[in-house]
Amino acid sequence: MKKYNNVLGKLYKPASLIYRKKLAGGIYKLKKYKYSKYNYKYTSNNHTYIYNTLSGMNAEVNSISNIKLPEKNNIIFSEGLNEQLHSAGILLDSNVNEELLLTQLFYNYENNGELFLIILPTEQCNLRCIYCYEDFKNGIMSTSVQENLLIFLDSILPHYKRLYISWFGGEPLLAVNIIEKLSAEIIKLSVKHQIDFHAGITTNGTLLSSEIFERLLNCRIYDYQITLDGAKETHDKQRINVNHKGTFDVIYRNLLDMKKSDKQFGVILRTNISKETTTSLYNYIDNIKNDFGDDKRFMLHFVAIADLTGTLHTTIDLCDTYCLFQYYKYAKSIGISFDFYKSMFKPTGMICYAANPNAMVIGSDGKIYKCTVAFNNPVNTIGELKNGKALIDYEKKLLWEQNGFETSIKCTTCKFSPICFGKFCPLEKIINKKEPCPPFYKYINTYLQLMHK
Ligand code: SF4
Ligand code: SF4
Repeated sequence: MKKYNNVLGKLYKPASLIYRKKLAGGIYKLKKYKYSKYNYKYTSNNHTYIYNTLSGMNAEVNSISNIKLPEKNNIIFSEGLNEQLHSAGILLDSNVNEELLLTQLFYNYENNGELFLIILPTEQCNLRCIYCYEDFKNGIMSTSVQENLLIFLDSILPHYKRLYISWFGGEPLLAVNIIEKLSAEIIKLSVKHQIDFHAGITTNGTLLSSEIFERLLNCRIYDYQITLDGAKETHDKQRINVNHKGTFDVIYRNLLDMKKSDKQFGVILRTNISKETTTSLYNYIDNIKNDFGDDKRFMLHFVAIADLTGTLHTTIDLCDTYCLFQYYKYAKSIGISFDFYKSMFKPTGMICYAANPNAMVIGSDGKIYKCTVAFNNPVNTIGELKNGKALIDYEKKLLWEQNGFETSIKCTTCKFSPICFGKFCPLEKIINKKEPCPPFYKYINTYLQLMHK
């Protein structure tokens, strides 16, 4: 029953309290249940499972033919099967209102007490990746913007229980001194306001020497996203430095050095995939398995390069999410785990931070944005830090936050909605006026199989 520790809170009661009433004489009463609208059936290694997107849990059903479907939508199972499926939210008491549960889930998500800030200590970068959408106009964060940020945080933190900061850029490690200075002050504020604080960073990894890594851990930066675009020969064509030189060797060396640490941290090894990258991807996967496969802190992640803003100024040959599966399959077959994908497929796991009312991006010049992809789109600049305050254009802010399941019939009737709520990419919604479905939606069964042990 411990499994009921999910975002739905008290609305789901443990099955034992709801229906497992033992009658005199030790006979269990059979009750009518309904089959949740949010069930996905899939098979893995000849076993059949159902995953419920609203509870985020799955259960095995050895044979779906065990399920008797009586009149209307109500169904009765054998006792053992009932309990397992009921615990996973796959079967519900017939009077449960799933729309209400969905709304409650979203309310809990928006009111989870976490302030999420993405901070750009600099917008400069030492690389010139061929698919990059940034223009590097702004430099490092000025002292006055830093001061404004800290005054603003001091005023707003009493309203929160947790603060999560994601350092971003440009290349944030070009301004590692600013990260350290701000982190030291933020740690003091977190003590003053008695809130939890930790952080992550998206870095190209070229400057992440052992010494810098230790300094970052002292700033409570425990989550790392570092990109390798496949093997050296493809990476060095796509992720070049300002002098047009490849960067694979230095990043790989830094990753191997990180592995020597005995500290707790996690690295997502993001692999951007285009048709070019796939030419040597099997070798790359073998190397990752050999060098990092024994260390759960390193997690391999494939992403099909997408033209999110319609401005990709390169002749890069894009590939669909579907083309990733042969590589996932191979990686899994040699023992690479994709367990961490479970957090994406959990309820609310694919809502973009740009749709989160408690999330914002602070530019190095003090401008406030919602999304890290479209800095040049005026709709993305929702305010600025001034005199220690965040001056926000709330009409613009709402454009990013109010869409999806509140307004779209497509989303309200979709069984994937507890995961993305139609808020996978508010930018695309603003540009194209319709909710884009996550690429994972179409292939959920394949991903469910992938995550299965
Ligand atoms: S709004 Fe879209 S483009 Fe912007 S960060 Fe979210 S998913 Fe990415
Ligand atoms: S965006 Fe697509 S996948 Fe998400 S809830 Fe709407 S219809 Fe479903």
